[in-house]
Amino acid sequence: FEREEPNYYGAGPALLPTDVLQQAALDLINYQNLGLGVGEISHRSKQAVSIVDETKVNLTRLLAIPDTHEVFFMQGGGTSGFSSSAANLMAAYAKRTGKKGKAAYAVTGTWSKKAYEEALRLGFEAEAVVDVKKQNGKFGDIPPTSEWKPVNSDYAYLYYCDNETVNGIEFQQVPEAYAAGVEIVADMSSNFLSRKIDVSQYGLILAGAQKNVGLAGLSIYIIKKNLLEQAGDEELKQLGVPLSPIAFHYPTVVQNNSAYNTIPIFTLHIINLVLKKLLAQGGLAVQEATNGRKAAALYSVLDSYPQLFKLPVATGVRSKMNIVFTIEGEGNEDEFLKLSGARGLTGLKGHRSVGGMRASLYNAVTEKSVQSLVDFTKEFAESRK
Ligand code: PLP
Repeated sequence: FEREEPNYYGAGPALLPTDVLQQAALDLINYQNLGLGVGEISHRSKQAVSIVDETKVNLTRLLAIPDTHEVFFMQGGGTSGFSSSAANLMAAYAKRTGKKGKAAYAVTGTWSKKAYEEALRLGFEAEAVVDVKKQNGKFGDIPPTSEWKPVNSDYAYLYYCDNETVNGIEFQQVPEAYAAGVEIVADMSSNFLSRKIDVSQYGLILAGAQKNVGLAGLSIYIIKKNLLEQAGDEELKQLGVPLSPIAFHYPTVVQNNSAYNTIPIFTLHIINLVLKKLLAQGGLAVQEATNGRKAAALYSVLDSYPQLFKLPVATGVRSKMNIVFTIEGEGNEDEFLKLSGARGLTGLKGHRSVGGMRASLYNAVTEKSVQSLVDFTKEFAESRK
């Protein structure tokens, strides 16, 4: 299973390391000489259970996950996380306080807005404690938390999106939750494992797999164990708190070692192969340094031609994963895409909702590949002078 090393900067599903895919392709046909592929074995078989267990161990090592937290995997992606995080965190709050809680959302871009809207749609009492577009007319910055509406202990959690994939905005630190007991919920779908984090600060981390760690179809959750203690269905009904669908009920999933229903084991196997590779490469400190250099190289060339390239995101909150820019001049964006495509540099078109360009420099995009993009961008800029 060979391929030429792609120069692909798509936002998701995204590039995966070729050697991981080669191993996965073999395992898809014949896993551990069983005469069966890894996607064909029972999700309750010894082999499948050990993939679940190993992936948990490897993730725990990579992120130094403390004993206070639990890892689990579920079908679905980021969007299912929007719904499930609201239901489960509210059920935990009801258990702890005997009350129906409120939810605070930091609306800083497309994905946190969708999460906020989903909480409202499901009937939770959600509130945007900051809404950057309403405030500034566009997404592109993160005001300091001191300017957000205060979050008191009526709130079960404060939700934010750590990296806004569409808008190219990344939090540089964990926002404060103000009141004790208010849990931080972070959507890390597009920057998971791109850098070191302190897991103990979070009540819940959720990440769809298809950008930095795997294929679509599976999402990763890291939860503070005490949030698995939740009010029962009857109590929630009495309080008027909407229930979680059973497949997304975190305590049920955890009790069943992530296999309450059929887990996409091939997808999890790929995640495990990616984790092993990250560990062998030196872990997240190495990854963070590499990703820092990659993003700096591209931002630097874009910043060198301010007449041509416009960067809509405030410097202090620029994403290292998704670099968003527009190009001045009639027809220049189409030309940029055409010429880069002719050179085999692909996946650079911005999200349909915001236009422009977007270069996603996830973990699997090598420094060499970023250099090719930097060289092209510079040549393009020089040719427009
Ligand atoms: N959250 C973030 C940060 C994302 O980038 C995406 C998708 O790109 C989602 C959530 C939604 O993920 P899914 O399409 O897996 O539901």
